Amino acid sequence: MGDRRRTANGHSNGKHAPARTPVQPRSNKKPQAATARQVRNICVYCGSNPGRDPAYTEAARELGRQMAEAGIGLVYGGGGLGLMGEIARSVLAGGGRVTGIIPSFLSEREQMLRDVTELVVVADMHERKRLMFERSDAFVAMPGGIGTLEELVEQLTWAQLGRHSKPIVLLNVGGFWAPFTTLLDHMRREAFIRNSMDVSFRVADSPGAVLDAVRAAAAPAQPLAEAAVAEKF
Ligand code: AMP
Repeated sequence: MGDRRRTANGHSNGKHAPARTPVQPRSNKKPQAATARQVRNICVYCGSNPGRDPAYTEAARELGRQMAEAGIGLVYGGGGLGLMGEIARSVLAGGGRVTGIIPSFLSEREQMLRDVTELVVVADMHERKRLMFERSDAFVAMPGGIGTLEELVEQLTWAQLGRHSKPIVLLNVGGFWAPFTTLLDHMRREAFIRNSMDVSFRVADSPGAVLDAVRAAAAPAQPLAEAAVAEKF
């Protein structure tokens, strides 16, 4: 078990990035170069359904428990259903912080969780995605459906274009993401993912490996590039 570092070029690298000195929060206009981002909040993308395997629910609960214990806040889509609801309730049960960001048109359909630390009801999906990006220091994708996939791929796309360097980790419960990483390998072999457009992400096989992977991947802050991403939403 543990996390494996992968890139869209299909390479694995079991080594963690060297430890770096924490920096000021992202709001600081002049971060130091070559210092690591402090991970205060993680955005978790996951299914609004529980999925077929009870292991998905167990993983969501365990990741939530560990985030609360580590004092890392959860940023998520604000719903009460499926894995989304499971991880949010688990963080709250552990005394942790939860920020739910949900468009008003989904508040009923996704059974918006009202008892969170901070609830942000936004006008549309664009605002939701922009705020989720801005509020988070890293992204974790758990098993999920089309919405989860779209959100993950968007972060990978912006990272590939060098517009942000926030860590991206796939929580590979029961090998759930294997077809996706296989697709990326296929794209590389077919020369649609170029070496010059490399994008890094990590694969963690268990909730226990996720926080280690996020911290290891924490890269030097690039606030100017990230501001540019926010403008694009
Ligand atoms: P799913 O993985 O399909 O269960 O969706 C998980 C979450 O992603 C839900 O809160 C959806 O509202 C959200 N979602 C669905 N489609 C999109 C999209 N195109 N962009 C961003 N989020 C989405």
